[in-house]
Amino acid sequence: MFDCVSGSLSDDGISGCILADDMGLGKTLQSITLLYTLLCQGFDDKPMVKKVVIVTPTSLVSNWESEIIKWLKGRVQLLALCESTRADVLSGIESFLKPLSRLQVLIISYETFRMHSSKFERPGSCDLLICDEAHRLKNDQTLTNKALAALPCTRRILLSGTPMQNDLEEFFSMVNFTNPGVLGDASYFRRYYEAPIICGREPTASIEEKKLGSERSAELSSKVNQFILRRTNALLSNHLPPKIVEVVCCKLTPLQTTLYNHFIHSKNVKRLISEEAKQSKILAYITALKKLCNHPKLIYDTIKSNNSGGSGFDDCLRFFPPELFSGRSGSWTGGGGMWVELSGKMHVLARLLGHLRLKTDDRIVLVSNYTQTLDLFAQLCRERRYPYVRLDGATSISKRQKLVNQFNDLSRDEFVFLLSSKAGGCGLNLVGGNRLVLFDPDWNPANDKQAAARVWRDGQKKRVYIYRFLSTGTIEEKVYQRQMSKEGLQKVIQQEQTDNKMQGSSLSTEDLRDLFTFHEQVRSEIHENLKCSRCNKDGNSLLDGNGFGLAATELSSKLSVQDYIDIGGFGEISGCLQKMNNSHRQIGKPSEEDLGSWGHHCDPSTVPDTILQSSAGDEVSFVFTNQVDGKLVPVESMARSACHQPNGIAASANRDEGPGKQPFLGKNLKIMGSNLKNSPLKCPTRSRTASPNCLQGLKKTSPSLDRHPQTKRLHVASDMSDDDFV
Ligand SMILES: [Zn+2]
Repeated sequence: MFDCVSGSLSDDGISGCILADDMGLGKTLQSITLLYTLLCQGFDDKPMVKKVVIVTPTSLVSNWESEIIKWLKGRVQLLALCESTRADVLSGIESFLKPLSRLQVLIISYETFRMHSSKFERPGSCDLLICDEAHRLKNDQTLTNKALAALPCTRRILLSGTPMQNDLEEFFSMVNFTNPGVLGDASYFRRYYEAPIICGREPTASIEEKKLGSERSAELSSKVNQFILRRTNALLSNHLPPKIVEVVCCKLTPLQTTLYNHFIHSKNVKRLISEEAKQSKILAYITALKKLCNHPKLIYDTIKSNNSGGSGFDDCLRFFPPELFSGRSGSWTGGGGMWVELSGKMHVLARLLGHLRLKTDDRIVLVSNYTQTLDLFAQLCRERRYPYVRLDGATSISKRQKLVNQFNDLSRDEFVFLLSSKAGGCGLNLVGGNRLVLFDPDWNPANDKQAAARVWRDGQKKRVYIYRFLSTGTIEEKVYQRQMSKEGLQKVIQQEQTDNKMQGSSLSTEDLRDLFTFHEQVRSEIHENLKCSRCNKDGNSLLDGNGFGLAATELSSKLSVQDYIDIGGFGEISGCLQKMNNSHRQIGKPSEEDLGSWGHHCDPSTVPDTILQSSAGDEVSFVFTNQVDGKLVPVESMARSACHQPNGIAASANRDEGPGKQPFLGKNLKIMGSNLKNSPLKCPTRSRTASPNCLQGLKKTSPSLDRHPQTKRLHVASDMSDDDFV
């Protein structure tokens, strides 16, 4: 970065660079280090720059401010323009631009900059420009882009956590913004690079065309690699604790199944598949099904509000159990907490939270695409008295940082962070939590990755558990599968032109028919499609308990018990290492997309995660697991400190911390693989003494809703058996 912006790189006139590292690698900190260096020194004993402008999405202005204060303390004079009145913004810009101003760094949103860009036109207004989330600049025709490009400042740094898009035009825009003219003008670029490269990648290309295409591609790469830095998350593992990613397939409940089938067999959907339908309609239908997968309450709301997405749900209110509604007014009451069990995923989540709260001091981030789902999470937290904070699109920018600080403050009894994936997953640091649930899959894999990177990042001390919930056999599995292939594609065919816009347009009739098919009988459709040779038809392991016997492939038979490495020690700590046979164990270090090589579990008791083992119940039909290495020895989870227990009951017999004191971390810092008999995760004494209030929903199985709707809340602490605590 320094070589680029200081112009000491080459004679190509390069003075800008693109930092495209994966999320969580500290692009912000790297930029702060560089800006401070340049503000302090230069080649001729004078500082290289005097004024730095950081342009960022509105939601990240205060984040930048707090990061700069955190790292540089008061060493630079800083101004952040955030949610101010127009007058304040104007006077702020004025005072930054005054020739003798002491202000060195201005943090400003893209929108505010665009509105006032004319003020920055004179030379000397900015010596170093940093654009955060710079994939916004991929279209060079936008006003913001034009305004920024006109800035008389050649030292430009673009930060982007999203891998370079496959679209060469967009790629050109970003490169040309960073170092104008370095690839020639747009028409030269198209002629010289783009056309031959695309042509050479066509399956029908001749040998000469292929050769020319790869030559130009290599030439382009060597040119841009001088100023584009991209490093992947793999680097992180040196500084982070191990992590496990669990893809958890949860069955739909009978109510969800009824509604799902009703919808996909409705006239509307049939018409959609047979005819050319509008993209907006396809998306509305997909959204309706995704909402149903989250919870039927979202469909109830849709029906009530007469939204167009509800058209496939006509006449569906009759399927809802009457207990959910007030006898008098007929409005939704949730049936005294019974609502939780109407969604397979929600039911599993409720148990997961219950076990987590009861047995650990872990905090959890719950992510959803839909604010209505966040509403339900919030209701669940209120009903079970879990402290929670919520950040969504409606949260003011100034409040966001406060919520984040609150959640990360270990002296407080915080438990749940509700996050809307669209409201600004990027930039937030939520290392106070070490577990995260992606409750619904997003079409765009980058959004899900952004969210997951909130907890597995610098500062995290505990082992990290990332849960991806999918409803078995439904559209959610298909969305997730598409995510993987899309990204897989991106990796294999770099720079190939693909349709990055909304997927609706690229869906064929076949695709559509498949999207709206419900595979009710499978344990996991993704697993079915893998044609896995490690498991048998039902998803069960082909091998016997000893890991030998009916080895299906050479590969799995080679993997004997001795060869297996329990990455991160998850198998050992969860006590299921001995139970795991070859199909339960992942093969080597598989990538995020290579589910075929992940651990496959149709029996949750083989999942190397105690909390999921106890929370799975009958709803979880399949789990994929991927253990990811981390060199940092983790601080292990323990029971919450005594002062935070319900009714003030002491956490466990052998704890000696005084009330109000935080768990003494060093004491529980175990070396991986040590004897875990005394693990605080297993404290049956406590489980029986805790208030029944927090045990609601912990039951492993529940009686059929149809038969005993009114008695089910009675099954609480009394019948919680030890097998809940494997
Ligand atoms: Zn399998």
